[in-house]
Amino acid sequence: MRDTSPLSLPWNTPTDFRRLGHQAVDWIADYLERVESLPVRSATAPGELLRQLPPGAPAHGFTSDGDWQSVFADLDRLIVPGLTHWQSPNFHAYFPCNVSAPGFVGEILSAGLNVNAMLWLTSPAATELEIRVMDWLAELLALPSSFRSTGRWGAPWEGGGERRGGGVIQSTASDAAVVALCAARTRVLACAANQTSGSSTADATRLVVYTSVHAHSSITKACMIAGLIRGPSDRSRLRLIPGDATHALRPDLLEAAIRDDLASGLIPCLVVATVGTTSSGAIDSIPAIAGVMERTGIASRGAWLHIDAAWAGAAAICPEHRSLLAGVEHGDSLCFNPHKWLLTNFDCDAFWTRDRASLIEALSITPEYLRNAASASHDVIDYRDWQIPLGRRFRALKLWLVMRAFGAEGLRAYVREHIRLGGLFESLVRADARFELAAPRSLSLVCFRLRVGGGDDASRVLLERVNASGRAFLSHTMLPSAESAASSRFVLRMAIGGSFTREPHVREAWRLIQSLVS
Ligand code: PLP
Repeated sequence: MRDTSPLSLPWNTPTDFRRLGHQAVDWIADYLERVESLPVRSATAPGELLRQLPPGAPAHGFTSDGDWQSVFADLDRLIVPGLTHWQSPNFHAYFPCNVSAPGFVGEILSAGLNVNAMLWLTSPAATELEIRVMDWLAELLALPSSFRSTGRWGAPWEGGGERRGGGVIQSTASDAAVVALCAARTRVLACAANQTSGSSTADATRLVVYTSVHAHSSITKACMIAGLIRGPSDRSRLRLIPGDATHALRPDLLEAAIRDDLASGLIPCLVVATVGTTSSGAIDSIPAIAGVMERTGIASRGAWLHIDAAWAGAAAICPEHRSLLAGVEHGDSLCFNPHKWLLTNFDCDAFWTRDRASLIEALSITPEYLRNAASASHDVIDYRDWQIPLGRRFRALKLWLVMRAFGAEGLRAYVREHIRLGGLFESLVRADARFELAAPRSLSLVCFRLRVGGGDDASRVLLERVNASGRAFLSHTMLPSAESAASSRFVLRMAIGGSFTREPHVREAWRLIQSLVS
């Protein structure tokens, strides 16, 4: 019998999924084949696409296959010109976002299954796959067992009370910063209450967060979201600690700031160490920061150490770069983004904590409609309690496929090659007397500037010429100069790490840069 229900929409049968899905995959494969020939940075003017789109939503849907062909034609005509091509091998800006066929297939499968993995019950396989792949990834980074789903350890502030660890996939490192801050706040206030036999004068308005002046802006934003500060320039309860000559956080100044705050009756809550800052890839010393937290007594009062390794963390899968995470055993949480540099399609932030109880206490709320026997048994993980939203995508699939398809050795070889290309680019900069390095090279990130032609202005003009050419795309930052920490200089950043970037692209980018110097 013919299905005449209004719910029986056209273009929504398994056959349509097959046909249209194949067409979309073909379109993507064609796009990736030609992406290198496209101008990397979109040259679209503001409003250009808006002017070409009808102001109102379509009243009637497609009636023929031909209508579908117009979608693909519109993608080419309207959308592609307005894209900056993150998957171009000539994209060297910010930190690249990786793509791979296994990651892409994982995304397609996740989109098609479209489960909401908010509770163990709502898709046990999604939760259990996530637990397992996060443990696999923890093993690749050689994280201590306390961060694994099976990890148990004794927390000093509770007379050795047992804490459990585990990993979860967040959307971004920014989400990771917010959840770390929420967990830290919960734990520090609970410790303060316990240590004063419940008659605590501790209140959330006296909590303070510490990080480097070079930390990512997401840490400041987390403080804004949590209500610690009113805006980006409010320093009342956020201390941005100056860096040393390598732009790493200065532990002596961190210690002084914490002692000042303790003397003023404030409550140190969270310290964020950055392993690979966004501007220059600087590495904060985790052991030195943990040492400050011990010496000042804030560690035993429950203060939380979060390690933001959003970009550089991927390199720690290589044994020779494990030292990046030296001291990680002192951290309470750690995150890095496989979507930046580990061939996993956007979005995928790997976040581990060794204190899941504080995280869950901070984020869990159970209305009647979510109650179920499995959750009540406490034998399962409900990942909704480890993140901000309730609903969650099945992101573990793509990480699973990436790790299976490439294996640890394949991933290591990939990261190592980008680091080698970073070294190559550094040597090219050093060999041209018109340029100088603006910071020590960090893995595959090279910060450099012009010495000639007026420094900052000349570097700014050069960057704009390179990007306007469409043949490469780099970004910039400001870094304190070696001579005076008070004055900042304009710096170009060559961030090598695109999925399809190879040595010829790096050499070609350098030739282009050289050719565009005034
Ligand atoms: N932390 C660091 C060190 C970063 O470099 C970045 C982005 O580049 C972030 C955090 C924010 O990342 P996300 O876009 O995942 O929030």
